[in-house]
Amino acid sequence: MGSMAFRMLAWSEPGDPRVENEDFVATSADVAVVLDGVTPLDRDDTGCQHGVAWYARTLGTYLLQLAGDRRDSLADCLATAIRRVRDDHAGTCDLDHFDSPAATVSAVRVRDGRLEYLVLSDASVVLDLESDGTKPDIRWITDHRASEVGRRLRAAGIPPTGHAVRTHRNRAGGYWVAAERPEAAYQALGGSVPVAEVRRAVIASDGATRLIDVFGLFDWTDALDLIEHEGVDAYVARTRAVEKEDAARPSASRVNRGKTHDDTTLVFLTRWT
Ligand SMILES: [Zn+2]
Repeated sequence: MGSMAFRMLAWSEPGDPRVENEDFVATSADVAVVLDGVTPLDRDDTGCQHGVAWYARTLGTYLLQLAGDRRDSLADCLATAIRRVRDDHAGTCDLDHFDSPAATVSAVRVRDGRLEYLVLSDASVVLDLESDGTKPDIRWITDHRASEVGRRLRAAGIPPTGHAVRTHRNRAGGYWVAAERPEAAYQALGGSVPVAEVRRAVIASDGATRLIDVFGLFDWTDALDLIEHEGVDAYVARTRAVEKEDAARPSASRVNRGKTHDDTTLVFLTRWT
């Protein structure tokens, strides 16, 4: 077993405190996972009696456990975790339903002196790497294939409704999330960097990257500085304030076209020095 390479600080909160948080976060000494249960188009029509929060929690728990064994690659661990959840509810639920429960996944693991990462769908892993000092070396790993499906539909004159986009889920040429097909795990973006080169890192659900990718108010260096120096709570509070301000504008001038507030989950890692 290696020694702990990073401090980890996890934060998760629902977009609306009256609604169950469908994100899931878990950490162990050398692993962190963040899952974001995909909001169904119709909660009463998913083919599943368990729900999205259950899906994210169950998949995330398996993934944490399998990754902690350190034998298999993160992609293999995710494939096995997807298979296990599928087997857990294949007998009771219709997993062929086009909108059966699904989740985006981001994960990191320290193994053999390297920080391994995996991102499936629009979750993020952000690495702040040692640089020569002239400018920061930030690597932002996220998968835009779902929004590309929307763009392609629009270009073809098809309204990119939730339903139209979702029929491209987990299909070649479409986009990939964790759902009923284990092979989705091998569509994840993955890689590794030496632990010694990582100054800080964030793994996050898409609700925790809005200041950067929806509102464009921050770059990742500013965001990481805010998290490190003022706290994860200050970073999330800032997200909520900006969302609220945007929602108060007339709809034509709003930046955010999605939910006003989304479930917001991140793990912040800093290397022990
Ligand atoms: Zn189910």
